[in-house]
Amino acid sequence: MTTAVTDDSSAQAAPDCHGRSQRRMSELSLQNDPDSGGVSKRINRQRHHPPRIGIMGGTFDPIHNGHLVAASEVAWVYDLDEVIFVPTGRPVFKQDKVVTNAEDRYLMTVIATAPNPKFTVSRVDIDRPGITYTIDTLRDIRGQYPDAELFFITGADAVAEILRWKDVDSIWDYAHFVAVTRPGYSDSGTIRRAPKGKVDALEIPALAISSTDIRHRASLREPVWYLVPDGVVQYIAKHGLYRV
Ligand code: NAP
Repeated sequence: MTTAVTDDSSAQAAPDCHGRSQRRMSELSLQNDPDSGGVSKRINRQRHHPPRIGIMGGTFDPIHNGHLVAASEVAWVYDLDEVIFVPTGRPVFKQDKVVTNAEDRYLMTVIATAPNPKFTVSRVDIDRPGITYTIDTLRDIRGQYPDAELFFITGADAVAEILRWKDVDSIWDYAHFVAVTRPGYSDSGTIRRAPKGKVDALEIPALAISSTDIRHRASLREPVWYLVPDGVVQYIAKHGLYRV
């Protein structure tokens, strides 16, 4: 089940008999467009709309199947043309924690995303010196895609801190934010305090998987099969990641 939550009630997706959101944002915005001419308008939009790019930001230590399901779901709901996974370089709120080196996290992300033609991986955050701030990520990706509509996707726990992020006042000009949540997550109130319509929450049941749990399992030599893609299982074993 995927549940879209937005403070723009006109964009609420209608659940089907299984409770799934049936409609994508593109269809909803068409439906709400007073100039919509129906099918021909839709074809026109498909041909000429600016690219819609998702930016999947995360430490990915390691990337897991919950991240991949979340990116796929957001791509479907928001009708994205591409999702760029952007592993962080030096995460700002983890300077006192051990984080696996950036090249390993980047390579695992490349391995995990390779089968999906819509998924790509960017090195902008790991190649930029210093601490990783999302404002810099957004400026870099905007420079590469000047005409695109950008959707920054990340975990709801991270988004809950967004009002403390660097240059938060200008961050909204660059992208729409999608906070993907684990089942049972209760909104911290940040979404309501963010500028109207700028942050949505989307529940992704597969996010019951967590990187913290995978690191813990790997440290105990417990299996991580099917929590991460097979290639990532092999990469973790081959490079001895997360062993204590
Ligand atoms: P984090 O603290 O490691 O993650 C917080 C929670 O969100 C965890 O439960 C995590 O689960 C989940 N999560 C993280 N990325 C996710 C993703 N892409 N999809 C689904 N769940 C995700 O967060 P982080 O990795 O450091 O930061 C996330 C993003 O926010 C990064 O792009 C980072 O640069 C940005 N950020 C920016 C600032 C700033 O500009 N000042 C500050 C903080 C974060 P898992 O551990 O299972 O992934």
